[in-house]
Amino acid sequence: MKHDFILSDDAEPPAAPVIMNFRRSGRSKNGYNRSSLALKPRTNSHVISAPASEFIRNFFPDATAADWNSWHWQIRNTVRDFSRLAEILELSAEEKEAFSQHREERPLAITPYYMSLLWNAGADPGLRKTVIPQIGEYTKMPCEEDDPLGEDADSPLHGLVHRYPDRVLFLATSFCSTLCRYCTRSRMVITNGLNSFNTGHWEKSFEYIAAHPEIRDVLISGGDPLTLPDQKIEYLLSRLREIPHVEIIRIGSKVPAVLPMRITDKLVKILRNYHPLFVSLHFAHPSELTEETAEACARLADAGIPLGSQTVLLAGVNDRPEIMTKLMQGLLKIRVRPYYLYQCDPVSGTGHFRTPVSKGLEIISRLRGHTSGYAVPNYVIDAPGGGGKIPLLPEYQAGYQDSNLVLNNYQGRQFLYPDEAL
Ligand code: SF4
Repeated sequence: MKHDFILSDDAEPPAAPVIMNFRRSGRSKNGYNRSSLALKPRTNSHVISAPASEFIRNFFPDATAADWNSWHWQIRNTVRDFSRLAEILELSAEEKEAFSQHREERPLAITPYYMSLLWNAGADPGLRKTVIPQIGEYTKMPCEEDDPLGEDADSPLHGLVHRYPDRVLFLATSFCSTLCRYCTRSRMVITNGLNSFNTGHWEKSFEYIAAHPEIRDVLISGGDPLTLPDQKIEYLLSRLREIPHVEIIRIGSKVPAVLPMRITDKLVKILRNYHPLFVSLHFAHPSELTEETAEACARLADAGIPLGSQTVLLAGVNDRPEIMTKLMQGLLKIRVRPYYLYQCDPVSGTGHFRTPVSKGLEIISRLRGHTSGYAVPNYVIDAPGGGGKIPLLPEYQAGYQDSNLVLNNYQGRQFLYPDEAL
């Protein structure tokens, strides 16, 4: 799969990263010559953490620090084939079985940076399950659909979803640097690959939004819009800002978790020109909260961009209360406000990711009252067929005693609230 449209323009200036704990020594276990590692500490604000340094030494020994911190280099060196994956990770029997059944229409894509997290996470199956095919993805359950949220039915144009009265979803690209196996839009992101959306589609969407004064909020998503070149991001934002009734712009992205070096000074300088601008990030597991990701989020937050996080509840990944608590508390530490916890959508081939709804309610009840309210996301089901997001709460209301509302608190104790007014 080629990604020339991303790499052909918007060349970024050479990065000169800060290298942490790099050592030069001998030969890696894969036989690469480590002495060729031309990594020297330089002055730059991009950090390379010690675990990433160790990974580079072992698997990309010829890469310079500037290479590693170039998001173009990361995309060019994305792991897309199973033989390269198996060189880096020890694959389980189930993963090998999944690879033996691999289908071209569900490609693999993991940036070298994200590979370094998988490698450092060792045998922990949680994080790797999000990006490495599992045998379950080849089974389509009767309840599953390619487009379970009915987005296509709510699309007046290709690349624009207008479901709610005052806001639209603007699908700017179908490209993601790292492909999540549970992606709700896998029908366009994983299966169809590139060029599902182009600037011709964008122009029609601009016209539509301009002709609908009720649209005050545009969410730019995809795919991952922050994988677009700087010039295209600037063009997109500037065109939307020309429309007087567009009050806020939001961008949905997983880039700080999978490609944090993409958050360059130049990109941030562009983004900060288009306030009020919000960025909704996507995190799945506390192992994603690295020094690199913290730095990327700090750059965005320092530019005055409010950061929220969306997490999909995933069996075997983050469905234990202690994992979710660690993720939510860790997000606050890097200035990201947990926003939504999604029940996993019934997308084709995701049955192995879904938990019972009772699991999500248990997790929320283990968060609410036990930690900062800011760390408690809204648990929602995006209703199949286009019903929109519906919040779910544990049973905090237990009926009435006379005019008193009976309430269960976070410890399971009951209290009465006099539900009366003059
Ligand atoms: S980052 Fe989002 S759009 Fe891209 S593959 Fe993952 S879930 Fe899908």
